[in-house]
Amino acid sequence: MEKLPFERPIIQKLNAGLPSKFGISTHLEPITQIEGIPVTELIERYGSPTFAISETTIRKTYKDAYRAFSSRYPKVQFAWSYKTNYLNAVCQIFHSEGSWAEVVSGFEYDKAIANGVPGEKIIFNGPYKTTSDLTKSIENGSLIHIDHFDELYEIIDLASTTKIRPKVAIRVNMDTGIYPLWDRFGFNYENGEAWDALNRIMLCKEMDLVGIHSHIGTYMMTTSAYTVAATKLADLMIGLERKHKHTIKYIDIGGGFASKNTLRGAFYPGTDTTPSFDDFAEAITSAIMKSEIKPENLPLLILETGRALIDDAGYLMGTVVANKRLADGRRATIIDAGVNLLFTAFWYEHDIRPAQHTSEQTEDTTIYGPLCMNIDVVRSSIMFPLLKKGDHYVVKRIGAYNNTQWMQFITLRPNVMLIDTQGKAHVIKKAETLETINHLEVVPEHLK
Ligand SMILES: *Cc1c(COP(=O)(O)O)cnc(C)c1O
Repeated sequence: MEKLPFERPIIQKLNAGLPSKFGISTHLEPITQIEGIPVTELIERYGSPTFAISETTIRKTYKDAYRAFSSRYPKVQFAWSYKTNYLNAVCQIFHSEGSWAEVVSGFEYDKAIANGVPGEKIIFNGPYKTTSDLTKSIENGSLIHIDHFDELYEIIDLASTTKIRPKVAIRVNMDTGIYPLWDRFGFNYENGEAWDALNRIMLCKEMDLVGIHSHIGTYMMTTSAYTVAATKLADLMIGLERKHKHTIKYIDIGGGFASKNTLRGAFYPGTDTTPSFDDFAEAITSAIMKSEIKPENLPLLILETGRALIDDAGYLMGTVVANKRLADGRRATIIDAGVNLLFTAFWYEHDIRPAQHTSEQTEDTTIYGPLCMNIDVVRSSIMFPLLKKGDHYVVKRIGAYNNTQWMQFITLRPNVMLIDTQGKAHVIKKAETLETINHLEVVPEHLK
């Protein structure tokens, strides 16, 4: 019989609370203030609903993540994933901490340039880059991560028309033990396509191959997938050294670390199950350091972490609109923000709290948003106290993807404010008005 490999035991703190003879406590601690400002005051000043982002939390989370990697590995660089939250104030906080920019469209590329990010510190990812986007990024010396052969050929053409050597990497997809496979972006590792692409780049001699990239998925709950990814990327790097005597400058391991949010249907809360930055860092850096890469060639390690760096910093607060009983007797609470503003409610069981003290009595409740649309459900089932019409609520941990994936549907998008490290609030995106929307519309003469 084969001996099972030894696995180091771990002790992990559970935050769920011990069940007593009355079961697990369902009491929801209210959130009455954010960074020292009472929720009622924020709503009075900025409207209901409204988003708040904590600068203190962003900076602290960034420093935690940076420390986890830089204490284990000598060369680390973060690149802020614009699509996770591209409000300029948020991007500027990450840039001021030292982050480069990671963008996936011409629009995001232009945003990064307008935010003052130097061209050579912009990583341009994604499956669709227009000819003018590519030309611009070649001229600016940005790092272009090639997604497919058609793009590779276009860049070869552009290298000759611009007479500039583009700086490129390829995106690699692979089997990391997580299914379904994310194989639609980049070149596949297992079937040899990635190695083929690297050889073509080396042989055409018109480009500078500077890195290798993978982004294996999002909300990854396991660190072992990153061990596999880092090992496979290191393997490609070693192949390049062996065959072409070419040393690439960086390995970019992408983003995808889970935040502490709880996925819909998960048994344990995300606060208990999500690996820490230290866990991810340990998996990634040890895989690279254990590889055959020579110490003098150790590549820069780039991380494009989005979600795990910003989710905790965001809050959405607002007002209860009504309570009613559904046909089967369940309680329904209607609030003034729905899936139009909280896109991630489709995936997460969001941590929604009263903003004032409530009774200890909770009841299984469905929380609906304000939209006239059946799928507008913020929480389908939550043990929740009775909040009366006009009471306030706060949804925690909503900084990732909501300020980019929100939609203007039925209602207008509200103010987003930043609470700075001194506890002062600033509007960083103004609420939409009817004019904002109408401004872009044109009614033909004959319909006026
Ligand atoms: C979306 C994206 C990221 C960020 O992913 P998170 O899951 O938010 O960490 C990083 N890199 C690429 C290429 C992406 O598309």
